[in-house]
Amino acid sequence: MSAPQGLVILGSTGSIGQSTLDVVARHPDRYTVVALAAASRWEILRDQCRQYRPRFAVIMDLSSAAQLRKALAAEAIRTEVLVGPAALASIVAEPEVHIVMAAIVGSAGLLPTLAAARAGKRVLLANKEALVMSGQLLLDAVAAGGAELLPIDSEHNAIFQCLPPHVPGVAPSGVRRIVLTASGGPFLRASEQQLRAVTPAAACAHPKWAMGPKISVDSATLMNKGLECIEAQLLFGVSPEAIEVLIHPQSIVHSLVEYLDGSMLAQLGNPDMRTPIAHALAWPQRIESGVESLNLARLGALEFESPDLAKFPCLALAIAAGRRGGTAPAILNAANEVAVAEFLGGRLNFSAIPRVIETVLERCAAATVTGLEDILEIDRVARVLALNLIQGGISL
Ligand code: NAD
Ligand code: MG
Repeated sequence: MSAPQGLVILGSTGSIGQSTLDVVARHPDRYTVVALAAASRWEILRDQCRQYRPRFAVIMDLSSAAQLRKALAAEAIRTEVLVGPAALASIVAEPEVHIVMAAIVGSAGLLPTLAAARAGKRVLLANKEALVMSGQLLLDAVAAGGAELLPIDSEHNAIFQCLPPHVPGVAPSGVRRIVLTASGGPFLRASEQQLRAVTPAAACAHPKWAMGPKISVDSATLMNKGLECIEAQLLFGVSPEAIEVLIHPQSIVHSLVEYLDGSMLAQLGNPDMRTPIAHALAWPQRIESGVESLNLARLGALEFESPDLAKFPCLALAIAAGRRGGTAPAILNAANEVAVAEFLGGRLNFSAIPRVIETVLERCAAATVTGLEDILEIDRVARVLALNLIQGGISL
């Protein structure tokens, strides 16, 4: 058996971060945790340091860092505590790091994910926003760094499993179309009137997946599926026209690939992120993930239907932004992040989320991307515009 591989988990206190540690704990001979990173919940980070003894723990604010240092010192745990976003980009490039789990939510994950790609690591991509906003830039960094980019999003991991080996961004031959499945979220059958009265707690109560608040709201608006269409376009090098979305409320078929000869390959499993995480950690080998066997006889039926784009306009907005390309996906993503945060804070109506995004897309001219600066600048401009619209109470 070779030496354990060094792992960094960006976003270790979140839903994906905790599921990753659950898988890693089953394979102490294969993986060793080099660094854990989170925004602020230092007590969870302390408990994780106690169990996994990483060399580094990174946290974003000074006072949490001070509390974490004190707590670790009291238990004689020798993890070094680092503070701030710059530390994320440096730890992912450490020579003892082989694998980086990119599981920070939102645009905050972009720079460390890019750094991991440039440093030639195996990058496990949960943080879809990083790819959606940066597009080809991240794929170029992967190629230039000699890195591997493996999808953690359950749909993209399923597609990856159904495709022959391929280079990210380059379409494998013989593929006719890709079908992304979607649970439909908690409001699949809600009326438009009910949608207007949706609370943050109701939006976060997903019927099939336990996830962080931002992606839960994205699942409820179907923006999550829209971001995933753009993610699929980029990862698999297919045109937007070759990507179809299908509602599948049971969340058992995680996605499908159709080939020119009419064959359709699908990946099935219980809705548990430990399956894609274990798959990408060990690829091309297979390891235990802790996920229960799927009992199809007990399930009985699997249902599929087309999405209602009029009821869930976020999906249509994202598909259009993916077709437009350039900075349009970054504008969409930034407006969505602001609108979701305002909704979760009780300052924006659920039904107004797509209106904010649509207005920002109308007022921010999408352009060609010439470099990272373009992305960071349009991200900043779109956020200011979205917040101004919401605070100014545009007729939403
Ligand atoms: P979460 O809210 O549960 O966790 C987010 C993590 O990111 C936390 O550890 C938090 O501390 C950290 N974080 C947030 N802002 C940060 C910052 N500025 N700097 C450093 N760390 C920061 O979210 P999640 O559900 O685990 O989702 C994480 C990512 O994975 C998202 O991009 C999401 O779209 C994607 N994803 C999640 C699931 C899922 O089942 N949860 C499935 C597919 C994709
Ligand atoms: Mg997904």
